[in-house]
Amino acid sequence: MGDKAEDCRSDVGNWRTPLSWVSSFNFSDEVRNLLNLPPKVVLHDVTLRDGEQTPGVVFRKSEKVEIALRLDELGVPRIEAGFPVVSDEDKTAVKEIAHLGTKAKIFCLSRLAVSDVNLALECDVDGVVCEGSTSDVHLKYRLNTTIDEIVKKAVETLDYAKAHGLYANFMSVDSTRTNLESLVKIINTITENTKVDSVTITDSYCAQHPLAFMVFIKKIKERTKIPLEVHCHNELGLAVANTLMGVAQGAEVAHVSVNGLGEKTGNASLEETAVALKLLFGIDTGITYEKLYELSQLVQKLSGFKVALNKPVVGDYAFARESGLVVYGLLKYPLSVQSYNPELVGNSTRILIGKKSGKESIKYKLKELGVHLEEDSLIEKILFEVKKQSMEKKRALIDDEFLEITKKICS
Ligand SMILES: [Zn+2]
Repeated sequence: MGDKAEDCRSDVGNWRTPLSWVSSFNFSDEVRNLLNLPPKVVLHDVTLRDGEQTPGVVFRKSEKVEIALRLDELGVPRIEAGFPVVSDEDKTAVKEIAHLGTKAKIFCLSRLAVSDVNLALECDVDGVVCEGSTSDVHLKYRLNTTIDEIVKKAVETLDYAKAHGLYANFMSVDSTRTNLESLVKIINTITENTKVDSVTITDSYCAQHPLAFMVFIKKIKERTKIPLEVHCHNELGLAVANTLMGVAQGAEVAHVSVNGLGEKTGNASLEETAVALKLLFGIDTGITYEKLYELSQLVQKLSGFKVALNKPVVGDYAFARESGLVVYGLLKYPLSVQSYNPELVGNSTRILIGKKSGKESIKYKLKELGVHLEEDSLIEKILFEVKKQSMEKKRALIDDEFLEITKKICS
């Protein structure tokens, strides 16, 4: 395939690199002046905890270890390995992962309870994410408690975690349905009374749109003094967008999961978030981007949870093309028809042969399958037959079917 990577080099901005070409408007003063990007963004992977809460997903201990090792190899700096209170098996898995000697810091989830922090300590993790609901709807209908009680427990738990050498994060569950004034007050009370390291703002139910979330994080940033993390769910397909908006207003840590696994409709996907941060904000999270496809495949296999064929970044058809006109551009100069090339993320280009194919696709496919054929009239005939069969079968053709047609026409 025509690789004109060298031609793309530019020092104008991050919008154009050998493997990507996004809109330069992202890097215009008009846009950049609206952002308060942090100097660095840390990825906190929740695949092994929130990801396992995906309905129907269960990871064995050995599988969790395998995924943790691969995340570490990818360069993800923080791994939330599980929720030890759930079962002995979960606790043992967290402990084993904490003892792997990964470069990544290992975290686990904890309720606002000293007993949970004790379990975390038994597992030898580096940090705990202590979750407590802050929204009225949770306090009234889920927990039957008051915000004062939550804050009291949070202070007690976080204090205990800090006193025992853990990195302590307070995760406000359902933050986006918590009144902003109350949330700021809760955060400030907790930060004034403990040595908590950071606070996670969650969009637990996709309850805010990206612009609202951007303003929400901006207001919290302005009125608190603690590093912020964002943890967004995907009910309306906005988890990645909201995570980006949180970062846009200074959140230093993004919670993500491989393939977007997670409770209900999932979390912000690791691969989409990391690539979007890199290409659209110019923030490199330091991971090995070329291993994203491979990691996605592993997690699909171990979770038994297949992603959509056209899932961005890691779907098998994320870079598949059928339409003749598009294939023409793709073969001439890939970035003319896509904003980044599959090589960036370890995925591949796939040219499908079917109803929408053109002559260029046929030529490409013949070459790919090692068939030497240049006669235009034969290619036309093959194309005619391909279109006919694709319509009959209501799908693209597989290689064997294509070869069969070629054989018949050339014989
Ligand atoms: Zn979650």
